[in-house]
Amino acid sequence: MSRAFNFNAGPAALPEVVLLEAQKHLLNFNGTGMSVMELSHRSKDYEEVHNSAQSQLRKLLQIPDNYEILFVQGGASLQFSMVPMNLLSEDKTGYYVLTGAWSEKALKEAQKVGNTKILASTKEENYRSIPQLDLDLLQEDAAYLHITSNNTIYGTQWQSFPDLKVPLIADMSSDILSRPLDISKFGLIYAGAQKNLGPSGVTVVIVKKDLISEPLDHLPTMLNYQTFSKNNSLYNTPPTFAIYLLKLVLDWVENEGGLAALERKNIEKAKYLYDAIDESDGFFKGHASKESRSNMNVTFTLPTEDDTKNFLDAAKKQGFIGLNGHRSVGGCRASIYNAVPLEHVQRLAEFMKTYR
Ligand code: PMP
Repeated sequence: MSRAFNFNAGPAALPEVVLLEAQKHLLNFNGTGMSVMELSHRSKDYEEVHNSAQSQLRKLLQIPDNYEILFVQGGASLQFSMVPMNLLSEDKTGYYVLTGAWSEKALKEAQKVGNTKILASTKEENYRSIPQLDLDLLQEDAAYLHITSNNTIYGTQWQSFPDLKVPLIADMSSDILSRPLDISKFGLIYAGAQKNLGPSGVTVVIVKKDLISEPLDHLPTMLNYQTFSKNNSLYNTPPTFAIYLLKLVLDWVENEGGLAALERKNIEKAKYLYDAIDESDGFFKGHASKESRSNMNVTFTLPTEDDTKNFLDAAKKQGFIGLNGHRSVGGCRASIYNAVPLEHVQRLAEFMKTYR
């Protein structure tokens, strides 16, 4: 059976070689006579998988030694709560930049925990762009500034990151590993795995050690970053199969040439679709303003809702899956994460031209 042209927003396409590798070892991993799913999480065989996922991630993202890599469950959505629970004290304020529905949700959870302020927002223009920041508005009371590096629903992406005196916290769920990063600019980065990292079930948290050094014994054990850092994310049973696939995806990223090579590919892929939009005489209209366009999620509309529906129906018949915009905004969205092959994107761009 041929593979689908998968433009799902997440869970999303995984590299075919990763799936084949997992399939090959499904019944007998490393001579154990069982799958990774059936291994004890305390076994040596699993421990190797776990530690090598961490060390591969450290290598690819060049994560300095003063940062911890944690594997947490609960999705990026639980991080909306864990970040303020662990990093926001009573006399401090969590600052938020609103660039879409996910940053709104992050703010909403932080409001339940402590003081918050909105530093900037592009809600009034329906989240078409990433705002310019007036960093003078970040007061002494700031515990951190929270941003969403890529806005999966609106198709916008931060092109660069500010240098701050306070910890910069980024939800990178939909663009981690899509480009090289200067980790030292960040206090904490989190990402649900199900776009660029692997399957759903594991959330990666990269955090500067000194931010989580204070004991916070009042917190529930499983909501305290220290529980994860002190126990190498093995306090309880981690999502072992998801972490195994994460390790295979990271090996694939290395084989692809690392993050600089992936960034070049991602720019090339996105250009096919943005060109199809820009050269359509207004038939396809991009949602994001040009300077904020995402290389991961390309969002666009057609002249009328009927046109959009017809386009999506026709695309589906041609085997293009997952092009519906998020249910909250409508329109179309092509998610072109790392594992979506260039050829699939070229075919979609061709289809857009032919359809027009
Ligand atoms: N943040 C962003 C940017 C997302 O795209 C998503 C999911 N699409 C989430 C957070 C929520 O992630 P999860 O479903 O893992 O909680």
